Amino acid sequence: MHILTTGGAGFIGSHTCVALLEAGHSVTVVDNFVNSQKEAVRRVEELTGKSIKLYEADCCDRDAMEKIFDENHFDAVIHFAGLKAVGESVQQPLRYYRNNIDSALTVCEVMGRHGCKRIVFSSSATVYGVPDEVPLREDMFCKGCTNPYGWTKYMIEKILMGLCDSDPEWSVVLLRYFNPIGAHESGRIGENPNGIPNNLMPFITKVAVGQLDHLNVFGNDYDTPDGTGVRDYIHVVDLARGHVHACDYAMTRTGCDIINLGTGVGYSVLDIVNTFEKVNGIKVPYVIGPRRAGDVAACYADPKKAAEVLHWKAEKSLEDMCRDSWRWQKNNPNGYSA
Ligand code: NAD
Ligand code: UDP
Repeated sequence: MHILTTGGAGFIGSHTCVALLEAGHSVTVVDNFVNSQKEAVRRVEELTGKSIKLYEADCCDRDAMEKIFDENHFDAVIHFAGLKAVGESVQQPLRYYRNNIDSALTVCEVMGRHGCKRIVFSSSATVYGVPDEVPLREDMFCKGCTNPYGWTKYMIEKILMGLCDSDPEWSVVLLRYFNPIGAHESGRIGENPNGIPNNLMPFITKVAVGQLDHLNVFGNDYDTPDGTGVRDYIHVVDLARGHVHACDYAMTRTGCDIINLGTGVGYSVLDIVNTFEKVNGIKVPYVIGPRRAGDVAACYADPKKAAEVLHWKAEKSLEDMCRDSWRWQKNNPNGYSA
């Protein structure tokens, strides 16, 4: 298959490009590098020994997207491109709605005009909102999101569902990711956040590498085994493999499926800190602080549908995630910048 990955230079996109190329597919990337660097694509080529056709363009730019589709035949698109920082989305809601919704609409319109009607979309567990119960199943009612970023995911899901209702030729897979961490085991590609990270694992690795002083643990009074927040952390390499299965699945049927990509196991903040320290032999100083606004106590997936429909399940352990996150950070203390 020839797959177009929008946002393919980013954290999840770059790992998925590796998985697609290793599975024998051809890959084209379109990215405007608003949150990534060309070096990531170069390293994917270096890791796989295969080449990637790269377009530097904004997915909201209709003419640029038309040109890409004129010049290529794609069997499917994986739409990763989007802005993803929750806090920033609260500060800059219009930028988030414009970029995320407009890019999805433009990509779908151009796809439809070129007769490419298979799309895998990067959604998020955030669309479940504040859960009444865990584990989270795809058929549970989504009560609404707590920030503009989450709403863009929610709305794009609805847009893609509507597209399937309107035209029976579309094949859509909405992947709801839980908490992707880790990195390729080579240590050559990984997560490269701008500035001070908001998410737990990149914050921990920045503390471990000495760029930040200590981790602030956001609350230890939740109704969880040790009082700290529980999440479903999934190794990005497992997540990437899930996309290859999703593309295969998209080829076999039409319609729309929502599928969780998680492990089904929840770990607390202190589980992550303790495992990171143990497997890497490095201390992560932390301070218990107040809860972060908008956080929920526990969030983890019911991963059964992915196993049944995609024939995929996560295989890597929390130890693997901690080891691989650290190898990437240690080898690339400044990310992709020299
Ligand atoms: P990322 O920021 O590393 O990758 C996103 C990529 O999209 C970047 O390379 C960025 O430059 C590009 N991009 C953004 N807007 C674009 C546009 N208009 N045109 C072209 N390129 C554009 O993020 P990621 O962690 O790899 O996430 C990939 C997708 O998965 C995103 O849609 C994100 O919202 C979603 N997601 C991520 C997580 C997570 O925790 N990382 C969880 C759930 C969902
Ligand atoms: N967390 C924390 N300190 C940090 C960042 C995160 O204690 O500096 C906690 C957070 O409260 C949550 C968990 O780690 O319980 C995962 O947070 P993250 O932002 O990575 O993911 P999300 O909240 O989006 O699931």
